Amino acid sequence: MKIFREALTQGYGQTFSVNKMIFEHKTPHQHLVIFENERFARVMALDGIIQTTERDEFIYHEMLTHVPAFAHGNLQNALIIGGGDGGILRELVKHKTIQTITQVEIDQTVIDTCREYLPNHSHGAFDDPRLDLVIDDGMNFVSSTNRRFDLIISDCTDPVGPGEVLFSTSFYQACKDCLREGGIFVAQNGVPFFQPEELTQSSKKLQSLFTDSTFYGVAVPSYVGGIMTLAWATDNRSIRHITVDKLTMRFQESAIETHYYTPEVHLAAFSLPGYINRLISG
Ligand code: SAM
Repeated sequence: MKIFREALTQGYGQTFSVNKMIFEHKTPHQHLVIFENERFARVMALDGIIQTTERDEFIYHEMLTHVPAFAHGNLQNALIIGGGDGGILRELVKHKTIQTITQVEIDQTVIDTCREYLPNHSHGAFDDPRLDLVIDDGMNFVSSTNRRFDLIISDCTDPVGPGEVLFSTSFYQACKDCLREGGIFVAQNGVPFFQPEELTQSSKKLQSLFTDSTFYGVAVPSYVGGIMTLAWATDNRSIRHITVDKLTMRFQESAIETHYYTPEVHLAAFSLPGYINRLISG
């Protein structure tokens, strides 16, 4: 039996038994594998780092999408940076107020491969007429577009390789410039138990740019190390403090079915343990 060892953390890691290798390819940007595992079903990794699995992807995709979407309450134009597996897009298209979705993914092979071998991730969302799919570096796009957005979701790889630029001050500044009044920026920001400096660095940069910048937490089994922090940044100070009653009304009106997200979990996710708060405040 083949074994897949994740290469993310010095001195510690997780291994997956590979029941079946589905796809392996070196794209112009990264090394892509998809394999089958008895616990997580199909698993996708890029450059040796777990990106998503069929068994637990709903947790991450629901929380990175619905927390800002329901807090905002009237999304019309959204931007996804990365997200090549289609999970964020699948959750976003469920919001009926949305008129346009722009997705900027650097690697066409990730999209093509995930559409074929992880079809439930996008679940047909790549055919949604509201989608404008752009194959480009997210940094290039946000620094040159004149489009404006109510929500920007950075669903990128870790800050190594092509994803590194998506954790830079210039990227955050360019995203801020692309946000409409009251718009929200969210991003995956790693597992602070193993990537503490990544959290402190992002926090410093975002706090210097946005009126309200913090993080919310979600534990995704295949992102090993406990709570993953998701970045939250907006100049609208009030929307993070939305009441559970208002969230519940919006959630019920949307008739969106979720398996992890609830209005109570939404608000609770912003309550983080002491060690993470200390990393956020630097
Ligand atoms: N959920 C995963 C996580 O938390 O690590 C991320 C999944 S998604 C597959 C990450 C995507 O970011 C990949 O498809 C990758 O090609 C894309 N990506 C990396 N760097 C990028 C860049 N500079 N611009 C646009 N997309 C990028």
